[in-house]
Amino acid sequence: MIGAFYQPQLVVCNLSTLDTLPVRELRAGLAEVIKYGPISDKEFMVWLEAKMEALLGRDRTALLHAIRRSCEIKAQVVGVDERESGLRAILNFGHTFGHAIEAGMGYGVWLHGEGVAAGMVMAAELSRRLGMVDEAFVQRLKSLIERAGLPVRGPVLDASNNAGRYLELMRIDKKSEAGEIRFVLIDGPGKAVVRGAPDALVREVIDACCA
Ligand SMILES: [Zn+2]
Repeated sequence: MIGAFYQPQLVVCNLSTLDTLPVRELRAGLAEVIKYGPISDKEFMVWLEAKMEALLGRDRTALLHAIRRSCEIKAQVVGVDERESGLRAILNFGHTFGHAIEAGMGYGVWLHGEGVAAGMVMAAELSRRLGMVDEAFVQRLKSLIERAGLPVRGPVLDASNNAGRYLELMRIDKKSEAGEIRFVLIDGPGKAVVRGAPDALVREVIDACCA
């Protein structure tokens, strides 16, 4: 039990529903699993690198472990958040850029997980440019996302002012406070922080990471 207000949650997951899930949806779902490695568990990231083919092949044992570990990490983060407000925001890794992609393309054109996938690469690249992770880490995350069959580059939302359009969409997203965009960044594999970043740097990342 963590904290007085902690409510144990029972998560029921019927793995057989995954058998009939279209492959594009399965891949998009894996984006939300992949995020738990960089933000909180570098061993889980190594495990995902070893098991990606099994996961895409809908191997029961692999899927069960991936889902169990995702639920455990989420419960742990949310549990800590009961005491120390704000930690649960790290669960939105990849979502700041991802929401801009979804909104900018029109909802449903890119699946949520696809936007999050490209968004994680962008957030990792922003972390690298802020000196928080090295190039090797960005490449590792990128290749894991690529192997899941997910996009590693964001779409061009506006051919004449792409970075400006991303920034505009991220500013109106509900996570930004008083116009300051809050990014979930990786401060070394397995550790996430939430912070702002200079616009000029964010522009560079968007220019470098969009198709
Ligand atoms: Zn999400």
